Amino acid sequence: MSPKNYLGSFYILFVCLFGINLFRLVWTSDIARYDYYRVYHVELSTQQHVALFQQLEEKSDSCTFFGHARHPKQKLTIMVAAHKVADFADLLQTYDIKYDVLSYNFQEIIDRNLAEVLSKDIDPKSMDWKHYFHLETIYSWMNFLVQEHPNDLAIINIGESAQGIPIKGISLKKNKKDNATTIFIESGIHAREWIAPATTNYIINELLSSNETEVQRLAENYNWIILPIVNPDGYKYTFEGDRMWRKNRELFGICRGVDLNRNFPFHWNSTGSSGDPCRYDYSGPSAASEMETKQLIKFLQENLILNNIKTFISLHSYSQMIMFPYGHTADHVENYDDLSAIGRKASEKIKQVSGRIYKSGSIYEIIYPSSGGSKDWAHGELKIPITFSFELRGPPDSKDLFILPAAEIESTAQEAFAAIMTIIEESESRGYYS
Ligand SMILES: [Zn+2]
Repeated sequence: MSPKNYLGSFYILFVCLFGINLFRLVWTSDIARYDYYRVYHVELSTQQHVALFQQLEEKSDSCTFFGHARHPKQKLTIMVAAHKVADFADLLQTYDIKYDVLSYNFQEIIDRNLAEVLSKDIDPKSMDWKHYFHLETIYSWMNFLVQEHPNDLAIINIGESAQGIPIKGISLKKNKKDNATTIFIESGIHAREWIAPATTNYIINELLSSNETEVQRLAENYNWIILPIVNPDGYKYTFEGDRMWRKNRELFGICRGVDLNRNFPFHWNSTGSSGDPCRYDYSGPSAASEMETKQLIKFLQENLILNNIKTFISLHSYSQMIMFPYGHTADHVENYDDLSAIGRKASEKIKQVSGRIYKSGSIYEIIYPSSGGSKDWAHGELKIPITFSFELRGPPDSKDLFILPAAEIESTAQEAFAAIMTIIEESESRGYYS
């Protein structure tokens, strides 16, 4: 054998072995996979359809519901496990239910998304709005920013998560007056909604480096407390275990996790949450049972007066909505008319900026009843007057669900920040900060 042929054979052998090992690595790893899981968008035309789908959500752990069946003429997105596709298709046909298939293989969407994540050990200066980032990178980036802006920025550590990870954020304090108003933003309470922390990171960067006069004015007149990932255990698990994980990682027998946005002590567990630890919207064994909830409550109670927090924003995805309290009841909050008008202005702003349609209204009115959410507690209990939560991109019938393509991070963050600026300007003009 010539040396060239010898090397060639060695190369082929290497590729075969490496290929087999790579194959084994993918298929024997402990990471959740969604190969050939289908995403359906169904239309419930009759009361019978509603009843059937309520039963299906209750009984099946192979169908993941994004929203609950509540009334006829409702559209609902459901992910169906590969082995249940035939049964589900039969159900649709038998009861004459209209539907679209949004995705035939959800793993493809996840694979595309994982390729948009930069490695954990990159230089934190490489933070951008074209990729998604690990928790470790986001924390290193915040440390880097504080070193760069030591007079205005500080790291905030509100305490540890259930699994002992510090919950960190940034405090931006250019206005040194004692009575300066603070804007509070939290995101990442739901682990899989990666666009939310990506958006808060963009906002931090804009407040520090934008040349726009209005951004500079808001950065200088107001103080900002921003917590990009209030559920760090869950966020980490979406990279290392299951990309579709939503809750924290507390252990309850055979299942893990509390939906932290159902765990706040305000009309806790009264509607739109589950008492079952194996469900995605488990409200926890008691109100504020979770470390993450406790830390956030303690921090806000201690800083409400001290930092004059007058606005509370929480970022989620997806569905393109701007919502204000309450979630547990159709009753109006005392400043309903103001919040309603401010929300409307914020959605109009988004339409001008990007053409995207964001629906605005109270949580109860425009999404579905839910209780124990952070913004309901912030408004109802802490009495923070301006309280909004966003459902960022994509649209309600998105085929990507929570897996927004990284190419859309920057435009999503831009429109969300424009809407938040509008909320502040409108609240200012209505006298909320004086
Ligand atoms: Zn969410």
